[in-house]
Amino acid sequence: MSEKNNFTKKTMMKQIVLILLSVGLIQTLSYSQKKNESVKNCILMVPDGTSASILNFTRWYNDNKPLSFDSLLCGFVRTHSLDDKITDSAPAATAMATSQKSGSGFIGMSLDSVPLITVLELAKIQGKATGIVVSCEHPHATPAAFTSHAAKRSNYETINEQQVYNHLDVVFSGGGNDFLNNGKYSKKEKKNIKRKDEENLRDTLIKSLNYNFISTTDKFNSLNEKSKVWASFDTDTSFLLNHFDNLTLKKHPTLAEMTDKAIKILFQNKNGFFLLVEGSKIDWAAHMNDPLGVISEFSGFEEAAKVALDFAVKDKNTAVIICPDHGTGGIAIGSKNTNKNYDDTKYASFTNPLKKVKHTPEYTSTTLKKMLQKNHSDTTKIRDILSIHLNLILSPAELKKIYAMNPADNGYEDNLYYELANLLNLRTGIGWTTYGHTGEDVFLAMYHPKNYILKGVIDNTDIAKYIARILNLDDFKESTKKYFAPHTEVFQGLTISIHNIDTNPELIVSDGKKTLRAKSNKNYITLSDNITTKKIELKTVIVFSKNTFYLPVNLRQVF
Ligand SMILES: [Zn+2]
Repeated sequence: MSEKNNFTKKTMMKQIVLILLSVGLIQTLSYSQKKNESVKNCILMVPDGTSASILNFTRWYNDNKPLSFDSLLCGFVRTHSLDDKITDSAPAATAMATSQKSGSGFIGMSLDSVPLITVLELAKIQGKATGIVVSCEHPHATPAAFTSHAAKRSNYETINEQQVYNHLDVVFSGGGNDFLNNGKYSKKEKKNIKRKDEENLRDTLIKSLNYNFISTTDKFNSLNEKSKVWASFDTDTSFLLNHFDNLTLKKHPTLAEMTDKAIKILFQNKNGFFLLVEGSKIDWAAHMNDPLGVISEFSGFEEAAKVALDFAVKDKNTAVIICPDHGTGGIAIGSKNTNKNYDDTKYASFTNPLKKVKHTPEYTSTTLKKMLQKNHSDTTKIRDILSIHLNLILSPAELKKIYAMNPADNGYEDNLYYELANLLNLRTGIGWTTYGHTGEDVFLAMYHPKNYILKGVIDNTDIAKYIARILNLDDFKESTKKYFAPHTEVFQGLTISIHNIDTNPELIVSDGKKTLRAKSNKNYITLSDNITTKKIELKTVIVFSKNTFYLPVNLRQVF
């Protein structure tokens, strides 16, 4: 062996050793990085429609007291949907749930109406407990996009059914009876709701799926933390009362109490949990340009965020993400009324008119409507109620405008609500640009026990990717292919027929010996031969969209 060859060999050996060492180092690094990223539990907190000014406004309202997550604010989130600069809640939630942008109205689905697996479903597949805590009705856009798949957010029949069969461990929301009881009167819709498939989903929850179904605070307080629970709190509406109204009326637990209870229930699962908490009605108040409503609803949300953060800090194995889905209303501290005196208005003048308020404009307009429906001529009481509820002393011109509104008119309640909100705005110097959503970036606050957080400007789809990463969940795209494969591909070559498309779509597949039956929105199929029929449970629900059933690819193996 020549000297030269020997030298080359030595150098090569050195290089190989170096390569091996560096591979080992990279593996160790990525392992320790992964170890630093991974957590067992994740709580995503969405204050729906919260533009950043609401944070500032709430601090002033609370005499400049910092918010529980002020020190955790770390970036901005872009919210646009696939086709619009200003997003609708459905694609905004779909982006945060599935890591994919979609279009207006789409719930857990792409623009071409194909289901996309959600982070909640991936967590469930991983054996984690899952839950939603919201102040709206449970089939509303944000909770729906994490728990179901539909091309229209208004398709409550489909969304409801998938939510029921998606077997969440905890659902706390408002007004569920409206949407679960087949054929019962709906307070919100003001009509009898009859499902086309005539299934009573409330019975299904209680009798077939063994849920603890509750609707009162007493039952809530004595909940057994070991069983699955579905709470639909009974109010006069299909959603929860505004936080400030509920503090006085105590009709149901607060969002913070529900968050606390949900965490206690979900924490029992040894594999960890994923929980979505939404302050749903901040958006609704902002749509009405109601300055008190947004403070009320954001305060309720912020209390819940504090509960989640306190738990996470103590637990040391939980990440908390706080991020609105979009802005609403274009709220500003300052308005056209402060054009000239903006630098001469003490902060107390912004918030003092709201501090003595006993009820929100929403509750006040509902109360007035009820009162005037009973006695049309009782208008003298309007002034008293506005003074007691809203601390509003009206000028003769303002009173005249309200007296002129006819309680018998359609939309009286909403028109009165707009007017009352406007009167509060005039007294506080709060300005608004729209009754719709807005397209600005929204704030991001994060807590992670090892400080593995996202910073700077991120996209709303990054939220889903981040959650999947820290919880070590399966890949979104691969899992969507695995659990939501089109029936034409899964059962290629077999005899396929589709039945009851308009009422209760069912797929029937046969190889001549065995017959598989799959119904839309259910999480099971049945398989029968000449002698027996057996039920096979699936990890996900079956989605029917545009004449195609989407179901697990491995169902082919039953034949
Ligand atoms: Zn909205």
